[in-house]
Amino acid sequence: NTGLAGKVAFIQGGSRGIGAAIAKRLAADGAAVVITYVKGADQAQATVDAIKEAGGNAVALQADSADAGALSAAIRRTVETHGRLDILVNNAGTLAVAPLDQFSLEDFDRTLAINVRSVFVATQEAARHMTAGGRIINIGSTNADRMPFAGGGPYAMSKSALVGLTRGLARDLGPRGITVNNVQPGPVDTDMNPDSGDFAAMMKGMMALGRYGRTEEIAGFVAYLASDEAAYVTGASLSIDGGFAA
Ligand code: NDP
Repeated sequence: NTGLAGKVAFIQGGSRGIGAAIAKRLAADGAAVVITYVKGADQAQATVDAIKEAGGNAVALQADSADAGALSAAIRRTVETHGRLDILVNNAGTLAVAPLDQFSLEDFDRTLAINVRSVFVATQEAARHMTAGGRIINIGSTNADRMPFAGGGPYAMSKSALVGLTRGLARDLGPRGITVNNVQPGPVDTDMNPDSGDFAAMMKGMMALGRYGRTEEIAGFVAYLASDEAAYVTGASLSIDGGFAA
């Protein structure tokens, strides 16, 4: 338990996968959590129900991270409801893979809007409400450092962009005692990257540990970065990837 009692966390993209595991862990450690989703209302409600059944405090809001106005409004609503904001987790992400000659500009633009622009938009809004001790945690990818298959250039670019954005935002917010960090998972078993089939087998062959990560493992790392104990970590891109990029 990283001691988050009394804190409020906003997790964009928290209905399933890594984001849901982060929401459950931060709630178990005492934070009141607000998660967003875009399509999966039932899944978001299931995550909220699971947190409540475990004794936690959770709410789900529909807000498309590609829509800057909707995302900022969800953050403002969180502050109105809970009276404060301590932790922002920018987890919403999309993975488009296609051969170069078939990769659409719509997918290119959507990748940038969800994986990069939403991080800037949410940080800008959250920073208006956070005080000293605030925590901003981005979910990047080990693909920022290593992209070993074809067709994923825009995804790798979007996650590399977070490395620079995280450094710069840490400079903006460091003087206020707010940290900004970027967690770079390796392959983690979710809907986006199921631990089955030929692709997963190929990924495992590239990793020092030879296995997919569990969403709870990523959530534990995020909980540490959200804690008071991590006050001296900022501007960092930190990999938790089973040695994928080693
Ligand atoms: P999933 O596709 O399993 O889940 C994505 C979550 O984000 C869902 O809750 C989804 O909600 C939400 N979401 C997606 N698009 C939007 C949007 N436009 N607005 C709001 N919410 C949205 O993904 P993962 O859990 O696998 O990935 C989470 C993050 O981790 C991403 O940033 C991804 O790039 C990164 N990552 C994942 C890795 C992996 O191997 N799984 C490896 C490295 C990084 P809804 O159901 O409503 O669409």
